[in-house]
Amino acid sequence: MMQPEPKDIGIVGCGTAGAAASLFLARAGHRVTVYERVADPGPVGAGITLQPTGQMVLARLGLLAPILERAARIDRLHAVRLGGRTLVDLRYAAIDPRLFGLGLHRGVLFATLHDAVQREPGVTLRCGVHVTGVAHAKDGVTLLGEDGPLATHDLVIAADGSVSELHATGGVPVEVREYPWGALWFVAEDRARTFRDELYQVVRGARRMYGVLPTGRGPSGDAPVVSLFWSVKVADHARWREAGLAAWKAEVTSFDARIAPFLEQITDAKQVLLAKYRDVRMKRWHGDRIVFLGDAAHAMSPQLGQGANLALWDAMALADELAAAPTLADGLAGYSRARRRHLGHYQFMTRALTPLFQSSSGTLGWLRDRVMPLGNRIGPIRRLMVRTMIGLEQGIVRAPLRLPAANPE
Ligand SMILES: Cc1cc2nc3c(=O)[nH]c(=O)nc-3n(C[C@H](O)[C@H](O)[C@H](O)COP(=O)(O)OP(=O)(O)OC[C@H]3O[C@@H](n4cnc5c(N)ncnc54)[C@H](O)[C@@H]3O)c2cc1C
Repeated sequence: MMQPEPKDIGIVGCGTAGAAASLFLARAGHRVTVYERVADPGPVGAGITLQPTGQMVLARLGLLAPILERAARIDRLHAVRLGGRTLVDLRYAAIDPRLFGLGLHRGVLFATLHDAVQREPGVTLRCGVHVTGVAHAKDGVTLLGEDGPLATHDLVIAADGSVSELHATGGVPVEVREYPWGALWFVAEDRARTFRDELYQVVRGARRMYGVLPTGRGPSGDAPVVSLFWSVKVADHARWREAGLAAWKAEVTSFDARIAPFLEQITDAKQVLLAKYRDVRMKRWHGDRIVFLGDAAHAMSPQLGQGANLALWDAMALADELAAAPTLADGLAGYSRARRRHLGHYQFMTRALTPLFQSSSGTLGWLRDRVMPLGNRIGPIRRLMVRTMIGLEQGIVRAPLRLPAANPE
């Protein structure tokens, strides 16, 4: 088959999706310009779980080795009810003994991708450029900035995160909803490596959720770190700040006594940050010469820990579809087709599960406490849950995605 012609591609956002897409597409021969709003982007955020799917994409980019150096291996997700009864105990090895998750500081993923983008010969990175929208031109799409048009590209990739400004002008129908619940998070030093091997969660009903994720070594420094998460209703956040830290620390400690010395690292409520979540829905992710990737396309609550992994997979899938299709229009349509089942499964499951873990409902928490331990004991259901955690599921009727037999790095 004839190779499709190289395109001039503009990518808005140099986060997980935008950076990974720029690398794949430049290596496929396209001319790529990345526009990033932040003038001097730096590593921010807390821990994320890099699933085997995300690891595979990074391995294809030749970037897994530096990530492995700074990440913590995670072998299971262990969620219990306050008091200790297991809700779910999902182990990667139940599917394949070679699989594991990686607890990683979001900043390490950012820095690794960002460094690679800066080194990549086919990518021009323009930081400090705020893209405010797009205008469809005759043979391309023009990016608009605060002072007028920036440039016209054959294809624009909107990878500007869950609060995407390109939703308004991109011409792809989208629904956006804010979740009423978010999470407080704090990254603590864990020199003694008290927390290891598992993402541990403790819940009480649907109103209280505590989580702790070994996060490897942060983007700077060599001390091991751990990420603490505490569920909170966004509307109650101001009240939480006013109430002072002492009562909150006592409550968190009642969920996991091991966390007490880590909470001493918090002396000011400003150190504990609030993450808010959005749910972004699109029936297809492409329009005429534009495609949405990552959180801009399908932001979800982090209940299943998949956001960064899906963003990485999006980038790889887009490059593969564009390489295989005779025209840009075919490639974009092929991309939406290829992503439908995988993204559909994770969006459906996240929407179904989030209120069971984060809502004001007494009934949903009660129901979860009865049903989930049963599912955890039934082999096929437990395996479905593990495959969902790994990032491979495409719904019950479709075969899961496959990972290559051997690590390509
Ligand atoms: C508390 C929390 C926990 C999470 N846990 C996990 C987890 O365990 N596992 C997981 O996989 N994911 C997790 N996620 C989600 C994950 O961080 C995101 O899904 C992922 O980073 C999305 O990448 P992205 O590139 O789409 O967006 P982003 O990383 O948000 O990048 C968007 C980029 O676009 C830039 N930008 C925005 N607007 C403009 C503009 N107008 N012009 C130019 N540039 C612009 C931004 O500055 C940014 O650099 C979590 C998220 C949160 C909040």
